[in-house]
Amino acid sequence: MASTQSAQTKLTIKQAIDSMLADPEYLTDIPEDQREQLFRAGEEILTTTDKVIKGYIRLTRDDGSMSRVPAYRIQHNNIAGFYKGGIRFSEAVNEDEVENLAMLMTLKSALHKLPYGGAKGGVQINPRNYSDRELYRISRNYVKLFNNDIGPTQDIPAPDIGTNEKVMDWMVGEYKVLNPDENYLGSFTGKSVENGGARGRREATGRGTYHSYAWLVYDWAKHFDMDKVADHHIHRQQFQVLKDLNLRNEQGGAIRVAVQGFGNVGGTAALEAAHCKKLKHHVVSVSDHNVTLFNNQGLDLEKLQAFSRKHGQLPSSAEELKTAGVVADIMERGAILSLDVDVLFLAALENQITANNMNDVHAKIIVEGANAPVTQEADEYLQEQGVLIIPDILANAGGVIVSYLEWRQDRVTRFYTEEQVYAEMQAHMVDTFAEVYETYFTRGIASIRTTCFGNAIRRLFSLLYRHGRLYSA
Ligand code: NAD
Repeated sequence: MASTQSAQTKLTIKQAIDSMLADPEYLTDIPEDQREQLFRAGEEILTTTDKVIKGYIRLTRDDGSMSRVPAYRIQHNNIAGFYKGGIRFSEAVNEDEVENLAMLMTLKSALHKLPYGGAKGGVQINPRNYSDRELYRISRNYVKLFNNDIGPTQDIPAPDIGTNEKVMDWMVGEYKVLNPDENYLGSFTGKSVENGGARGRREATGRGTYHSYAWLVYDWAKHFDMDKVADHHIHRQQFQVLKDLNLRNEQGGAIRVAVQGFGNVGGTAALEAAHCKKLKHHVVSVSDHNVTLFNNQGLDLEKLQAFSRKHGQLPSSAEELKTAGVVADIMERGAILSLDVDVLFLAALENQITANNMNDVHAKIIVEGANAPVTQEADEYLQEQGVLIIPDILANAGGVIVSYLEWRQDRVTRFYTEEQVYAEMQAHMVDTFAEVYETYFTRGIASIRTTCFGNAIRRLFSLLYRHGRLYSA
C-alpha cells in the first residue's frame, strides 16, 4: 500500500478493528458466526470516504485577469452526526491531504463524543498572494460551488490553516443569500463574535492543548497509584516521569517547557504554561518560521506576544530583541526540537519530528497542538524510548469542541459567556482525558495515540452496528 497520509490512517483504522474483533468482550451481542463479516463491513465503511467533491473556483484577479483554482470538500463519515471540519487555504492542499484530515476529524469527533462526523475542505492557493477582495471572491465562490453539500444540518465547515473568522463571516454571508429560508448562523463555525461566533474560540485550541498535559500531570498522575499501572517497562517509566515532575513542582522546582510555533495555538499554550497556578514552568524556548529564542531562566512571553502581534513574527535579531525588551539567545528555527527540556509543545506544522531528527529529541513529554507533527516512524521510535506523546486528536480538540458550542448557541440564538464556553470545553475534554489516560496506563496499550484511535473507532463501529449499517442493504 502506498504510504500516503490517508493510507497510513486507513491502516491504523484497520489495525484497531482487528484488535476489536480479537476482543471477545467487545459487542458480545453480535452472533459469533457473523462477527468476522460484520467487522470487515465496518472496516470497509470506515476506511473509505463517503464523498469526494472537487471543483474549480473561478477567480477574477484585481487586475481583471481570470484563473481557476482547485477546491475540495471531502466528507468522510457521518454515522455520529453532521459532517464537520475546517477549510484550508494553502498551496499544499491536495486530495490525499484533505481526505486524511477528514478521516482524522471523524475520529476526533468520535473520541470526544461530539455529535459530528468528519469532513475537510481546501482551496489550493497561498492566501498571502491574494488581496482581501480576491480572498472575498474565493470565499464566496467556494460556498457557491459546495452549497448543495454544506449547511447547519449537513456539513458545517470552520477555519483552518490560511482561513480565519473574516473568511467564515464572508462564507456565512454568501450562504445566507443562497439559502434565505435556513438557520444560516449554524452553517459555519469560527465566525466573529458579532456574527454568532463563540467567545473564546480563538484561544480554545491552545488552552485545551495545554490542559491535555497539565491535567495529566497534576490532576491525574499525582493521585494515581503506581500499583495500578500496567506491568510494562515503558508505561511505568512514563508514569514515573509524571510523578517526578509533580515532586519537583512540590519542592519548588520549575518544569522546563519549549513551544514550537508562536501563533494562535502555540502562543496561547505558552502563556497558559507560564501562568499556570498548579504547576510552575519556565518556558525556556519558543520558535516560529524564522527563529528559535532561548533563555534558561524563562522567556518574557508577554513582551514576545506584544512584539509578534505587531510584527507578525518573533524578534529575530539583536536589535529586534532590544526593541521587544526581551533577553534571549537566538538560534536557528529547528533548534527548539532538540533542546534539553521536560515538555515540548509542537504547535506549528505537520511532519516536524521525523526519522531524520528523532534521535535528537530530549523532551520527556511531547504535546501535539498541530495536526500530525510527528511522523509514524518517529512516533514509534520515541514511544520505545519512553517519551510520552499526547496526540493531536486528543490534545487539540478544544477548537472543535468550542465550534460545537457555537453551533449549539446559534441554533437557539442564546449566546454563552466566555466563562461558560471554557467551563464546558474543559469538562468535555476532562471526560475524554480521564477515559484515555486511565485506559492507556492500566491496560498497557501501545501508545496514547493507539488508545485514542481505539476508543474512537469502538464508538463509530458500535453506532454503525446499532444503526444496522453493517448488514447488506
Ligand atoms: P498560526 O498560523 O496562528 O501559527 C503557526 C505558527 O507556526 C506561527 O508562529 C508560524 O510562524 C509558525 N511556523 C510556521 N512554520 C514553521 C516552521 N517551519 N518552524 C517553526 N514554526 C513555524 O496557526 P495556529 O492556528 O496556531 O495553528 C498551528 C497548528 O495547529 C496548525 O498545524 C493547525 O492545523 C493546528 N490546529 C489549529 C487549530 C486552531 O484552532 N487554530 C485547531 C486544531 C489544530
